[in-house]
Amino acid sequence: MAEQWFNETLHPEFQAGIRMDRLIHRGSTAFQSVLIFENDLLGRVLVLDEVVQTTERDEFIYHEMLAHVPLMSLSNPREVLIIGGGDGGCLEEVLKHPVDHVTMVELDREVVALCRRHLGNICGQAFDDPRVELRIEDGAKFVAETDRRFDVIIVDSTDPIGPGAVLFSPKFYENCRRCLTPDGILTTQNGVPFIQGEELTVSARAFGALFAHPRFYFAAVPMYMGGAMAFGCASQATDAGLVATSELQRRLDQRGLDLAYYSPTIHGAAFAMPPYLQALTA
Ligand code: SAM
Repeated sequence: MAEQWFNETLHPEFQAGIRMDRLIHRGSTAFQSVLIFENDLLGRVLVLDEVVQTTERDEFIYHEMLAHVPLMSLSNPREVLIIGGGDGGCLEEVLKHPVDHVTMVELDREVVALCRRHLGNICGQAFDDPRVELRIEDGAKFVAETDRRFDVIIVDSTDPIGPGAVLFSPKFYENCRRCLTPDGILTTQNGVPFIQGEELTVSARAFGALFAHPRFYFAAVPMYMGGAMAFGCASQATDAGLVATSELQRRLDQRGLDLAYYSPTIHGAAFAMPPYLQALTA
C-alpha cells in the first residue's frame, strides 16, 4: 500500500510531513477537525485543524514545562485553572503537585473524549482524579465571568487561529489577571518565535501593560517545528525566572516529583533569551 503522509500547513513558507503509519481516527467536531494517527518514531499524534498538537514521543517536554515552571515557582499552589488542554497531558502534570483542585475549561467535549480513548499514554488517568473539575465551555467566557481565584492559570491553547484566537487577546489576559490570587501566575503557550515572532510580541506588549513581572521562557519541542517554543509567564508578585535553584530543588524533593525534562537548573536556564528574542519582547 502507498505511504500516507500528513503535511502540516501551519506556515505558508514551509511544510513539515509526518508519515501516517496507522490511522486511528479522522473526523470533525462542532469546532474543529480531528486527526489521530500513529507514526513509528513518534507514537500517536494528535492533529486539530491540520496543526500538530502533541505526540506521544515529545509531549513530556511541552507539558512538563507548561505545568511545572509556574507550579514550582509558588511555595504552596492550591487552585489551578487550565484553559484548553483537551489531550489531558498538562492536567496529568499539574496533578503531580499536591494541589486541592484543578478546573479545566475546554471548549470541545469531543476532543477530550477522543483523547481519553486513544491517547491514554498522554493523559493517563488524569480525568478520573477527584480533584479535577472538567467544564466544557469557552475559556475566554469563563475568565470574563467567574468570581473564582486561582494560584496558577495555564493556557494550553491551539494556535491563534480558529477557536483558540480569543485566548491570545489583551482582554483575555486582563480577565486572567483578575482571576489570579495576589501572587498567582499566568502561563501561556506562545508559539515558536523564530517563525511566529508576532505572537510573542503581541503577548509581550499585553503582559507588559498588565503585569509587574512579564516574563517568557523557552524549550525546544521537536514536533513544534522551527526552534524553541515560547511560554509566557506573567504575575503581579512572583518573578518565576528568579526563584533560587536551591529553593526549586527543595520544593521538587518535597513534592516527590520524578520528571524527564523539567529540573531546577532547566527552570532557571529556560528564561535566558538570545538578543533577537529579547528584541521581540521589548
Ligand atoms: N499543546 C498544543 C499546542 O500547542 O499545539 C495545544 C493542545 S490542546 C489539544 C489545545 C486545546 O485548546 C484543544 O483541545 C482546543 O479544543 C482547546 N481550545 C481552543 N480554543 C479554546 C477556547 N476558546 N476555550 C477553551 N479551549 C479551547
